[in-house]
Amino acid sequence: MNYQDCIREIPDFPKKGILFKDITPIFKNPEAFHNLIEDLYNKVKELDFDYIAGIEARGFLVGVPLALKMNKGFIPIRKKGKLPGEVIRAEYELEYGSNTLEMHKDAFEPGSKILIIDDLLATGGTVSASIEMIENLNGQVAGLAFILELTFLNGRERLSKFPVISLIKD
Ligand code: 5GP
Repeated sequence: MNYQDCIREIPDFPKKGILFKDITPIFKNPEAFHNLIEDLYNKVKELDFDYIAGIEARGFLVGVPLALKMNKGFIPIRKKGKLPGEVIRAEYELEYGSNTLEMHKDAFEPGSKILIIDDLLATGGTVSASIEMIENLNGQVAGLAFILELTFLNGRERLSKFPVISLIKD
């Protein structure tokens, strides 16, 4: 089964008026899950990076298997209050509300090249907060990868400094 056919739309989640793209059916189907990771691998394999940083929580679902396949380390970017060590923090605006992300200050060695991964690019606020933290810790952002891009929100415009990869544009 194609992963493209495993994405469903849920109206009014998490708020009225939002048409939420639900990717969870991909992970239920081993063939779709496998195809997804293969496609991502083929798109990012030319990029030069040392680590994959995944954004909680759906960025973990794709970032971890991709990191394992590519023999790279995985770094979690988490919501406020979840990481036990010393953290750096960035606030960001979502399509629906605001939030805070955190990373361990010692998550990577200064100068490391990092590919950031998440399930979906909407306004680009979440990934921009992640970029800010990585750059403040003297990391180099090597690229940004997503399963889905909501092109009508123009998130890509604010990310023009970096290679932006998305498997499905909507
Ligand atoms: P942005 O910060 O680019 O506006 O929003 C992207 C973030 O919100 C991502 O972390 C993504 O997981 C989440 N998000 C926003 N809308 C959706 C959606 O329709 N479906 C999914 N799966 N995630 C969404």
